[in-house]
Amino acid sequence: MFLDHIITKDHAYLEDYKDIKKHLTHKGGKIPRWYQFLKDNITINNQGRLYFDLDRPIIQNPSAPRPAIPPVDPITLHHPKKSQQWVATWTQHLSDITYGKLMSTSHFPNCLPVSYLEHWIHKDLTFTLPSTTPRSLPNIITKCQGCAQHFTYYVGNLRPKCIIQVKHQDLILIDAFSKKKREELSPRPAITINSFQLLKYSHPHYRLLAFNDFLLQQGHNSTVDFRLIAPPSLNSDSVIRSSTNDKLITCLIDDIKIAEDMKVISINLNSFTILDIYTDGSYDPTNIHEGFPMGYGWTTSNLTGTNITYNGSLRFFPSSTKAETMAILTALIVCPSNCFVNIHTDSQAAIDSFYKTRNLHSISPRLFNKINNNILWSAIRDGG
Ligand SMILES: [Zn+2]
Repeated sequence: MFLDHIITKDHAYLEDYKDIKKHLTHKGGKIPRWYQFLKDNITINNQGRLYFDLDRPIIQNPSAPRPAIPPVDPITLHHPKKSQQWVATWTQHLSDITYGKLMSTSHFPNCLPVSYLEHWIHKDLTFTLPSTTPRSLPNIITKCQGCAQHFTYYVGNLRPKCIIQVKHQDLILIDAFSKKKREELSPRPAITINSFQLLKYSHPHYRLLAFNDFLLQQGHNSTVDFRLIAPPSLNSDSVIRSSTNDKLITCLIDDIKIAEDMKVISINLNSFTILDIYTDGSYDPTNIHEGFPMGYGWTTSNLTGTNITYNGSLRFFPSSTKAETMAILTALIVCPSNCFVNIHTDSQAAIDSFYKTRNLHSISPRLFNKINNNILWSAIRDGG
């Protein structure tokens, strides 16, 4: 249970108990005493208006594009159909990205702006196009036909089946291609042309972008950020067996804080025998001024409801291959030694480097030095 679950998205009201209940595991029983206590002590009227200001400075990723904040107005702004924008946000309790079309925004006096989206969901095409990597699969979204995220009190256009309420500052803009591009897509999903959208970048790309943005807003702007989300349960046996990972991590990672983080992740992953991991590394020259032009990250994708995402940024790594390599290295050293790991990367440079370093031990040091990022790659070899 997080504070965000018991107050409304604009941070101005205590949620109705029936909305809070949606996040609870045990939904039965009468209204608990803690709710009545909050209602008696932190609200000023029967609608649950909070009497303290929960506004806090919001740190945002300067390189992520965002929809403009409309001026303060007691009337909700309905964005005209022609200018509705495609947006995404990180949904913490689902450990996943949420896509949508921006329908309206309320920016009431003394409240944080809140937006309403028509919910769209990512269509997984892995099974129809099995030979492609996730980052080269077309990113197709379709309208949600209704899910647990649906906000039932929406006033306005009631045609969309699923409407989601989101803090406006949590939204990032995403790009959808024109209808012409959709028609050119081959192979195309077997649905009508107007019932899907084709996004400009891959699903893993937007997923990491949204997760990164979420971390920044939580104040994680240090060199390496990571957040464990709903880690799988532990048993004492797995703690003992993770000593191989500990050794690898200690050898390869200098920074004590990062090493500690990696050890915690390795313990959490210890009981898994199959892991599907998407890696992503990117070079973003617009971030040079902040000193961290390289971002890298990975996320597991095959653990139901408990996926783990790791993400960091690099100061001294001026190439995107290095970021990809770092993503793969940090993913591999936390996997259990008896685990079958599928790494999904679409970086051809990273794949080439992997094959070049296969015979590292039998080549001359001079040639070895010519291979990109050779230290990282031999670490990946020896670790495997
Ligand atoms: Zn939905």
